[in-house]
Amino acid sequence: MALLELKDVSVRYGRIEALRDVSLTVEEGEIVTLIGANGAGKTTTMKAVSGLIPLASGSVHFDGEDISKLRADLRVRRGICQSPEGRGVFPGMTVRENLEMGCYTRKDRQAIAADFERVFQLFPRLEERATQAGGTLSGGEQQMVAIGRALMARPRLLLLDEPSMGLAPQFIQQIFAIITEINKQGTTVLLVEQNAQQALSRADRGYVLETGSVTKTSTGGDLLADPAVKEAYLGMA
Ligand code: ATP
Repeated sequence: MALLELKDVSVRYGRIEALRDVSLTVEEGEIVTLIGANGAGKTTTMKAVSGLIPLASGSVHFDGEDISKLRADLRVRRGICQSPEGRGVFPGMTVRENLEMGCYTRKDRQAIAADFERVFQLFPRLEERATQAGGTLSGGEQQMVAIGRALMARPRLLLLDEPSMGLAPQFIQQIFAIITEINKQGTTVLLVEQNAQQALSRADRGYVLETGSVTKTSTGGDLLADPAVKEAYLGMA
């Protein structure tokens, strides 16, 4: 049984059909990536999983249960956490406070302390900056806070929307290395990325979305080698 299964999911924004019959699965332990052009429906797919938009039709199952109608906050409690595109760091809160927001539903103090350790191990920069206000961090550091905050909720499924967006090349490498490390430590990852090269080379499997539909799916390696994918998404003819 897949950890996550979308079956024939359609989503509408008024008259616009943003997703049409999207079906995809994520197995426990995998990194799965969604690639596609601007407006293809990648963010909308993530929102359908996290519960931030209602489905027009179809279903979302998590861990074998139908969560299609479950509220977003209750999905977080089940272990689905999103680190949103655009980051969403609270500017007036310190780095530490921002991270604490990720686990506000938890009471297990000892485990929370261990998770702070883990996040600071993954992102030593955040430990150095623990008392600095979120709003004064660089873009790359804010991205680290957003991912760190999602990890503080101990997700079973981490949804990452454009984690490399706006980052300098050396940060991009680092963020992808950290995503691989988070996955190795046991978190399943669904990743949306413009940087298809990096995403596919890190992912077990990928899905190509075009104007709201899945047009192709395969292993990360096969998609990387696919001539049509190369031409459309990897900037290679
Ligand atoms: P990008 O890579 O540019 O972020 P995306 O693949 O994530 O794109 P989505 O954000 O999922 O694409 O958008 C899919 C389609 O739905 C687009 O045509 C977009 O304009 C439309 N859309 C998204 N959000 C809304 C909204 N709130 N109201 C109306 N249309 C929307």
